[in-house]
Amino acid sequence: MRTRFAPSPTGYLHLGHAYSALVGHDLARSRGGSFLLRFEDIDHTRVRPEYYEAIESDLRWLGLDWDGEALRQTDRLPAYRRALEALRGRDLLYPCFCTRREIREEIARMAHAPHGPEGPHYPGTCRRLGAPERERRLAAGHDHCWRLAAGRAAELTGPLRFTDTRHGTIDVAPDLLGDVVLARRDIQTSYHLAVVVDDAYQEITDVTRGEDLLPSTHVHRILQELLGLPEPRYHHHRLLTGDDGERLAKRTEAPTLRDLRVAGESPAQVRALLDA
Ligand code: GLU
Repeated sequence: MRTRFAPSPTGYLHLGHAYSALVGHDLARSRGGSFLLRFEDIDHTRVRPEYYEAIESDLRWLGLDWDGEALRQTDRLPAYRRALEALRGRDLLYPCFCTRREIREEIARMAHAPHGPEGPHYPGTCRRLGAPERERRLAAGHDHCWRLAAGRAAELTGPLRFTDTRHGTIDVAPDLLGDVVLARRDIQTSYHLAVVVDDAYQEITDVTRGEDLLPSTHVHRILQELLGLPEPRYHHHRLLTGDDGERLAKRTEAPTLRDLRVAGESPAQVRALLDA
């Protein structure tokens, strides 16, 4: 068994992260398996160098150890590029030239814009561009991202499912998130693509993460199938909430492990908080 914890070095770890790390760590260690650390640092607009070391030090303070050096996604860009090329070569991606504003306006014009758990879907404007216009814009160097042609992907893969230890067997809904972006215009990759390529590269057998990412797993199963990558088991754990019932997320004022440590809490006390 191999699990991983995959934080983004965009801030200090809070209790929600600590819970996620513990779930992955304890699952692997209870079976004599490996626990890996991966920095999901592709979004250079939000990453800060000081957080890599801070995250490692907070995990060690909590008593968590991982196998080998932490993987950094910024060292893996050629692998993501190869995966994109493979998908593009099978006509599973299309360039999208729309700005956010154009997408918003198009959705507002539509009578029945499809929605998913993460909001309105991309309305498909650039999927319908003719090949000559697409080529013309690419040749002229117009800014673009690359989107998954979700309908075509579903035709190729046929019905898929995934298994989650808490949620059971789930049928993949190929259009749950619509034509997601697989390569952002500024970073040439995306969370969805990088996570799938790296879970396979790190030979992760069990993906442990918060249940807020359940919708993403539908996309990940499709990408695994299209790229010929193995299917891990999933364990989408519950999300920690604060006293007000609100989810502990970076943007709410969740206490960081650092705050707790400075306030004199011991690692054992923090673990006890997480079991509550
Ligand atoms: N980097 C993601 C996060 O911090 C984790 C993604 C995952 O575990 O697949 O939420």
